[in-house]
Amino acid sequence: MNAREIKIKDKAIGGENPVLVQSMLKTPLTNVKEVINQVKEMEMAGLDIIRGAVPDMECAGVLKKVLKEINIPFVADIHFDYRLAIESIKNGVNKLRINPGNIGGKERVKEVVRCLKDYGIPVRIGVNGGSLEKDLLEKYHHPTPEALVESAYRSIEYFNEFGYDNIVVSIKSSDVKTTVEANRLFRKKYDYPLHLGITEAGSGMSGLVRSSVGIGNMLYDGIGDTIRVSLTGKSINEVYAGREILMSLGLLNEGVRVISCPTCGRTKTNIYDIVDRLKEETKNIKKQAVVAVMGCAVNGPGEAKEADMGVACGDGNAVFFKRGEKIKGISAEEIIPTIMQELEKDGIK
Ligand code: SF4
Repeated sequence: MNAREIKIKDKAIGGENPVLVQSMLKTPLTNVKEVINQVKEMEMAGLDIIRGAVPDMECAGVLKKVLKEINIPFVADIHFDYRLAIESIKNGVNKLRINPGNIGGKERVKEVVRCLKDYGIPVRIGVNGGSLEKDLLEKYHHPTPEALVESAYRSIEYFNEFGYDNIVVSIKSSDVKTTVEANRLFRKKYDYPLHLGITEAGSGMSGLVRSSVGIGNMLYDGIGDTIRVSLTGKSINEVYAGREILMSLGLLNEGVRVISCPTCGRTKTNIYDIVDRLKEETKNIKKQAVVAVMGCAVNGPGEAKEADMGVACGDGNAVFFKRGEKIKGISAEEIIPTIMQELEKDGIK
């Protein structure tokens, strides 16, 4: 089932639209300057939508200042106090993320819905395995996929009852399999766009792997309209990771994908540094290219030939290939400058 289309500022999700990358601010909104700089940096890196916590009226109050300076859609994350939701909407946010169960009853949800309608913005209902309703936990004993989907359905009903349908849903658990199964179950029944993520995925390598396995599985099933790789760490790394997941599945036709071999006992050139530097230098390029950096002549020429350009290294030197053709021999020091020059020549850089 395809998701219905929802508009968020100048972007659209669901329908035939591409999957978008989201991240969340980890700095209080009241640090206005820092927030603006961070969003701009992430936007350069390819972020599509940013979410920020609005825990009090002071944060809601600075929203106008922040929104004036950023281009991408901003989602206000609200808990407990419906007045923060209303104030954020009035101050111009482009979407609301809310849990209707924790903002004080139906009458308050109704007031928020009235405001959402007036301003024509969508809402994301976030279901999280860690904050499931008590009666659902009693019914299912654990935050099972079925329990999570039932919770999502309840929240949808809350909004539907007040004639509101401009809804995005997220169903997250820190357990990868539960999250994948819950989203599959949800998609069989409902066509609301789904925001994907593995909540509390952790830091570094384990966070990346858990998120990639979970989000990747769902995307490969054709499920998911926006993604967030939740990492204990800098927000910008969530953007790079999200884009890498989309690129891996052919869902993002932009950016430089660097293929590199793991190295082995045959490697005679330090390609770790070359690959790190190359990734750093190409990380904000939006045009699409595949560049291979290979350690030796075993798989090197084959991979380098298949890529747009690449090198097969020898002992402190390399053979440079472009579009399948062997172009020239270069020294190891010339690898990065040669690739960057060729990217520029092709109008990619
Ligand atoms: S390409 Fe060469 S150096 Fe790299 S892993 Fe394969 S055999 Fe080893």
